[in-house]
Amino acid sequence: MNSYNLFIGGRSVPTAQHAEVKNPSTGEVVGLMPLASTAQLDEAVAAAREAFKSWSKTDDAARQRACHAIADLIQANSEDIAQLLTREQGKPLNGLGSRFEMGGAYAWTRATADLVLPVEVLQDSPDGRVELHRKPIGVVGSITPWNWPVMIACWHIIPAVRAGNTVVIKPSPLTPLSTIRLVELINQVLPPGVVNVVTGDNSIGAALSAHPDIAKMTFTGSTETGKKIMSSAVATLKRLTLELGGNDAGIVLPDADPKAIAEGLFWGAFINNGQTCAALKRLYVHDSIYDAVCEALVDFARTVPVGDGQDEANLLGPVQNEMQFNKVRDMVEDARAKGGRVLLGGTPGNGPGYFYPITLVADVDHGVWLVDDEQFGPVLPIIRYSDVDEVIARANANPAGLGGSIWSADAAKAKHYATQLECGSVWINKHGAIQPNAPFGGVKQSGFGVEFGADGLKEFTIPQAVLS
Ligand code: NAD
Repeated sequence: MNSYNLFIGGRSVPTAQHAEVKNPSTGEVVGLMPLASTAQLDEAVAAAREAFKSWSKTDDAARQRACHAIADLIQANSEDIAQLLTREQGKPLNGLGSRFEMGGAYAWTRATADLVLPVEVLQDSPDGRVELHRKPIGVVGSITPWNWPVMIACWHIIPAVRAGNTVVIKPSPLTPLSTIRLVELINQVLPPGVVNVVTGDNSIGAALSAHPDIAKMTFTGSTETGKKIMSSAVATLKRLTLELGGNDAGIVLPDADPKAIAEGLFWGAFINNGQTCAALKRLYVHDSIYDAVCEALVDFARTVPVGDGQDEANLLGPVQNEMQFNKVRDMVEDARAKGGRVLLGGTPGNGPGYFYPITLVADVDHGVWLVDDEQFGPVLPIIRYSDVDEVIARANANPAGLGGSIWSADAAKAKHYATQLECGSVWINKHGAIQPNAPFGGVKQSGFGVEFGADGLKEFTIPQAVLS
């Protein structure tokens, strides 16, 4: 059994206590997560603070080279980490699973390495010169969720260090081991203390987000936890990027071809078993093609193999943890009790593992828990509508605002409606397809701030106007 250590100040640091990390497919113990003490958290923040003194002054080209070297190292080790990720997270090796996540991790790292934030000249006239410089902020605290642990860790760590900050990352206690491995690799490239990892239960996250020497928090997780982090940031006015929960609407217009869109709709909703922030979580289908879309979705869903992620044949795995499994089960039961028609799935087996079948629920509407709240699991509610303008307003009547999509044969019409959706990203005839050059973030209670591209990098800097 592999027992893992923290990584602080360039050293592997053992802890007095550990907790078991279990494989959600089998219940087997994957490894032992170190439980950091608050003294060790303080050490990690102090190491990052010390490292900031020189890292923040490192030449930009050197930081760029370092990020490229990290990308190469992640790529060279991606199969090993993918295997570990599948065992602790449950997602399959293949399809849109662990290998895909590792590909994203090094692709995003490379794209971020290539970004530059040159000094902007805002004025250069006989009256004077105004330059806008972008400076690193300090020690960044990063807290990540369990759904895409390695890729999201790269989204937090790489822009932070690219811009000259140092980092203390705290991964989810459900999937900490692949992040520890990632940080060990990063430390083969960066000076000691630039990137540190502490693990433990949620209380270590709370202590990190309240730490007076953390200058900025970057958080990806639930809206509920995001609000707690925002409140702990108040005392020292920490900068914040909050990437929170979503309840993305997908709207199928009457002119869409049900068979042609079924596969895209399916993967938009069921990527990573629906455990994706910007997955399609509420599907609105026009009355005239409602039955045809339901049928095409059921037909496609039946072809997708679900099982232990370590089996190369599977394309979806288990739900990641018991709490999420219970939520999905209870939401489906509630929808059924309120008249929802279960077209597929809806009844889990007896284990082992947190396997919940791919589930499609028709004839539900607003006011049902499964529609109003984020399910974060392998179940999709399908809502009938008859008026397009009205459905846009109804889709917007939700506190979340992460992503959305319009499905139509008419691109111009689709764009017209797409831009009326209240969300940070909107897709046409696809859903959730993020990319490193498109700023990604939420509106309303899905958070604020963006990740990716130059706009994402700027979030890890503070502007300074230089007037001469
Ligand atoms: P979560 O909020 O339960 O946990 C996220 C992280 O916060 C974990 O590391 C956890 O240990 C830590 N944490 C818990 N309580 C804390 C506290 N009081 N103070 C500080 N840290 C604390 O979320 P989760 O269940 O891991 O992830 C699922 C949620 O994340 C979903 O709502 C999903 O939509 C959202 N998410 C959003 C994005 C995005 O980019 N917007 C991406 C992925 C996931």
